[in-house]
Amino acid sequence: MTHGHQRWIGVDIGGTKVAAAVITSAGEVIESVRAETPAAGRAAVLDTTAALIDKLRAEHAVSGIGVGSPGIVDRASGRVVFASDILPGWNGAEVREELEAHTGLPVTVDNDVRVMAHGENMIGAGHGRTSVLFVSIGTGIGGALSIDGRLRHGAHGTAGELAHLLVPVTGAIGCGCGRKDHLEAVASGPAMAAEYASRAGVPVQPLQRVVALMHSGDPIARAVISDAGELLGRVLAGVATAFDPEVIVIGGGAAQIGADLLSPLVSAFRVEAMPPVADTAILPARLGTDAPLVGAGLLAAATRTEVSR
Ligand SMILES: [Zn+2]
Repeated sequence: MTHGHQRWIGVDIGGTKVAAAVITSAGEVIESVRAETPAAGRAAVLDTTAALIDKLRAEHAVSGIGVGSPGIVDRASGRVVFASDILPGWNGAEVREELEAHTGLPVTVDNDVRVMAHGENMIGAGHGRTSVLFVSIGTGIGGALSIDGRLRHGAHGTAGELAHLLVPVTGAIGCGCGRKDHLEAVASGPAMAAEYASRAGVPVQPLQRVVALMHSGDPIARAVISDAGELLGRVLAGVATAFDPEVIVIGGGAAQIGADLLSPLVSAFRVEAMPPVADTAILPARLGTDAPLVGAGLLAAATRTEVSR
């Protein structure tokens, strides 16, 4: 069975916005819509998501829906089994059940970082690779491990998750999980911004403003971003040695800082990792800002393919 002309809807549910797009089986975005994430909790977020889907379906015939959600998602049931406070009340959300009941279409749900990793595997920097460690650096830090083009989920849906690795540094903020000294609390976008505020004595949010300061010659901003990159590189060296991926793909919003973050990351990785792991290719993600939507649409397409064969 071929899906060449079929269309899918990819959905990206985030802490500040919900976005949805019609995607071709080749990962092309046909049309996208978005709305602010309602603060009123789970039901309101699912209502907003359903309304965006309805809007797209009024114009486009689609065969299935893929959803990227924050938190740990049980792929079999499409239920959020753990979520931090990024989305209040999201813990326990029956995303698949609710959206299938509303749309009558098959719905596949996975963690948002896994969805991006899937997109990179299909048409991006991970395409054709035997094993890929995808790392997302953004509002949080996430990761996903793929073998032979397929995401590994592990026994509890956390395989490849990097956010809560213990690091030898205490940052300016606590981790979203409530614990301390975790990678996400030191090297995510908000962590870098908080670290800048702590070192400079001036509150600066979001990370984009720290990046702008760096470009205008602020040495503290440059050091904060470089230090975060170095820490990420050292941590990834250990992870790469444990899982030995063919390539490491770096994505997420903060990764778009470019060489100012990635160069210190790669340098530290090469020093810290055991040979021959130290030579592991480290590539920037290719799908850019549409990655969550494209990945979610391609996830819907891949799920249908699995079911039909
Ligand atoms: Zn944590």
